[in-house]
Amino acid sequence: MDVEQFNYLIPLIIKRRKVLNTRYLHVALILKGKKPITYAFNKVGSRSHGCGYNNVTLHAEIAVLKKFGNMAGLKGLRLVVLRFSFQNKSWTLSHPCADCSIVLKKIIKQYGLHGVYYST
Ligand SMILES: [Zn+2]
Repeated sequence: MDVEQFNYLIPLIIKRRKVLNTRYLHVALILKGKKPITYAFNKVGSRSHGCGYNNVTLHAEIAVLKKFGNMAGLKGLRLVVLRFSFQNKSWTLSHPCADCSIVLKKIIKQYGLHGVYYST
């Protein structure tokens, strides 16, 4: 996948860093074909915000699924997870944590999500 197509998100990511002050930021998008339908960043939260929060953060891939809301509507759609490095000012290697892997495998199986792409 050509991650350059998501470069339009970089200004938003850089703006967001002022709040989060992290070295990396994850963004996840749901795509219909090549068209992004919605996207979400990883968020700081807590379990009191509901399920999907892993200790103090809500991972981007789960955040975007929560934002999208309609699990049945995921059939045939794709999920893209990108990690942006503030140091290199570019997309960098992204991979799912164990918790997200389990959730995503379940969603692929149960709801027909077409696939998940992680930036490399
Ligand atoms: Zn995760």
